[in-house]
Amino acid sequence: MTEPATKPPTTYVQVALNLPLRREFTYALPTGATARPGNRVRVVFHGRKLGGIVTAVTDTCELPPAKVRPVDAVLDADLLLPESLLELARRMAHTYGCSLGEALDATLPAVAKRRGQRLIPHLERKAPLDLAQQAVQELEDKHQEQSRVLRTVLEFGGPMPVRDVTRRTGTSDSPWQTLVKHGLLRRVLIAEELEELVPAIEERAVRHELNEHQQRAVEQVAKTVAARAHRTFLLHGVTGSGKTEVYLRVLEEVRNAGRSGIVLVPEISLTPQTVGRFASRFPDVAVLHSGLTDAERGRQWQRLVQGRAKIAVGARSALFAPVQDLGLIVVDEEHETSFKQDSTPRYHAREMAIVRGQIENAVVVLGSATPTLESIGKARRGVYELLTLPERAGAGRLPQILVQDLRGEPKEARRAGVVLSRTLLVMMEERLKARDQVLLFLNRRGYSPVLLCPGCGEAVKCDACSVSMTWHVRRGRLVCHWCCAEKRRPETCPTCQHAGMHELGVGTERLEAAVKQRFPQAIVARMDADTMAERGAHERVLAAFRKKHIDVLIGTQMIAKGLDFPDVTLVGVVSADTGLFVPDYRAAERTFQLLHQVAGRAGRGEKAGTVVIQTFCPDNYAVTAAANNDYDAFVQQELGFRKVTGYPPFARLLRVLAEARHEDEAKRLLLAAVTPLRPLADVEVLGPAPAVIHKVKDHWRWHMLVKAFTKAAFEAAMAAVGTVEDLGTRTCRVTLDVDPSSLM
Ligand code: ADP
Ligand code: ZN
Repeated sequence: MTEPATKPPTTYVQVALNLPLRREFTYALPTGATARPGNRVRVVFHGRKLGGIVTAVTDTCELPPAKVRPVDAVLDADLLLPESLLELARRMAHTYGCSLGEALDATLPAVAKRRGQRLIPHLERKAPLDLAQQAVQELEDKHQEQSRVLRTVLEFGGPMPVRDVTRRTGTSDSPWQTLVKHGLLRRVLIAEELEELVPAIEERAVRHELNEHQQRAVEQVAKTVAARAHRTFLLHGVTGSGKTEVYLRVLEEVRNAGRSGIVLVPEISLTPQTVGRFASRFPDVAVLHSGLTDAERGRQWQRLVQGRAKIAVGARSALFAPVQDLGLIVVDEEHETSFKQDSTPRYHAREMAIVRGQIENAVVVLGSATPTLESIGKARRGVYELLTLPERAGAGRLPQILVQDLRGEPKEARRAGVVLSRTLLVMMEERLKARDQVLLFLNRRGYSPVLLCPGCGEAVKCDACSVSMTWHVRRGRLVCHWCCAEKRRPETCPTCQHAGMHELGVGTERLEAAVKQRFPQAIVARMDADTMAERGAHERVLAAFRKKHIDVLIGTQMIAKGLDFPDVTLVGVVSADTGLFVPDYRAAERTFQLLHQVAGRAGRGEKAGTVVIQTFCPDNYAVTAAANNDYDAFVQQELGFRKVTGYPPFARLLRVLAEARHEDEAKRLLLAAVTPLRPLADVEVLGPAPAVIHKVKDHWRWHMLVKAFTKAAFEAAMAAVGTVEDLGTRTCRVTLDVDPSSLM
């Protein structure tokens, strides 16, 4: 027997899998198949078929060939992740301590991962309505999650996407599956809507003559774009100063040069109003946001890949838009916390936008009326170039801001929880008489955040979490805002049987009731996560408000930004204090930002606007700086505090969170993890200690906060702390969070 003359050499590929394992895996390509880095493949991993991305192709392999399994299939060979996005994912994995596969997963739209899928699962009622309603009651005690799922679907009315059901109820798949098994619900496959995304353009497409500040900003940015150089600009402009107009002008130039641009906006401001402004200027804009079905998102993605759309507008993940010849990335409202993803990979879209800009030689513009201390710090050190728009553009003038000290309100009103001060009531009356519109802002949903027993002082807590439950009147339930659990309202105190529980504190639902009672003739609408659950509700309410079918709009942070309604002449901040005492070093910064943004909703048109800020802390520097519209004063004060306490921008933070059913386990795990960090230079560790929210969903939570004062110290700390897969155990979940946005 002779050897076969030519056995074709085997080609090997390195494959990154979406698993928390920080390495790639070697597979062999079947004879005849080809693949390039960026291709998707299907492989068998420990008996499971998984999708992965090819990161390298080689002719040799260090493993014994017998040990190398073949690639199951090369998927959509024509769909290639560009090298620049591969590189971005590598940088992301390194910075945030996740695996390359996890980072890559974030860069692909779901449809690219599950191609061919056109039907999405929905849940609808199967049993007769009365039976189903009865079941909601019966399940309430023993099978709370099932009860919640069933009620949510019934309330929705028609078929509801499974994805939305689980998200809204905070449940896994098993409760709805059980309901289906028992014949109460039915799972149906419904074709995705392919409705046109870009809303009807009713927005003004006016192309204003730029004022001198805008002109200068546009020139500076456009010049750098034309030079194909990477540079980051910080565009600091007060609300209504015409930042958006600056983005639009630079984008025009980018597009005229045949290049592409990406605009990142906070999810919340992806309203038809914002999108309309881009769409009216660029008919070929691709809009990407989380409300899209997979098919819609995939369609937008294809348009960008093929260069049919050159401008992508979207929330955080639009950062990965596969555009060709990227010229500009805009991060609007760069201070928004929604740019930080709160699940793996925990990336910050602003930071990764800058990395993508470096990789592709693109210009990055960060815009805000209230830049973060990190960004303004870098601008002052010359890392970013600062551009300023100091005045409102066009007709609008900055509003007059009054700080209303609630300590002067009558005692009875204070005890009940002041809702509306006398000053605010008088002004509302005036404005409503004049047929102007009023915005009332309160960053807390529900009726009252605490149900308290006046007998023993105990509040009703969630059974699974260490937080008090919020009373929701319309739902008729106490709701845990951490795990979505619900409870019936107890008639008597569960601890001491005292009759009559007190509703403590004010949420938007209670505020709405108070306003309706006080102004029975006014049309009042509320905009918060509870009233906006349905698809399209947001757009409907805003359209009604625009048409002046609504007199008073009450809302949470949903109404804080982006809205531009010329007839809003009064904005009331019902409580400036809700965020001030949160145990987070950014409490003051976030309060200042929010107050400034909310105030920016008044006086956008010809008419002058007034803002009333109600507070028990009128002397707090965040409140006074917001009232005086004095960003610099706030920054100076706050930077001083940060320097002394060693927080960003003077340190970089890493939070390590451990969660386990047995508290001891979480604690022990962190006590071991902290040891290698202790000897590091320029590193300081706070904790390990119980997290502020000590228990969530029956899991005890411990955390530690690592502060690194130099770049090298940060790298050393990341290396010393190890990986999630090394740290975590089957019974204790570990989260590494770089630049954490929440410390709770
Ligand atoms: P920002 O993004 O800073 O909040 P916008 O770009 O939304 O500001 O502008 C605020 C308002 O001023 C908008 O109604 C916009 O149409 C208008 N505007 C912008 N630039 C000009 C200008 N140069 N002249 C007149 N009006 C302008
Ligand atoms: Zn809970």
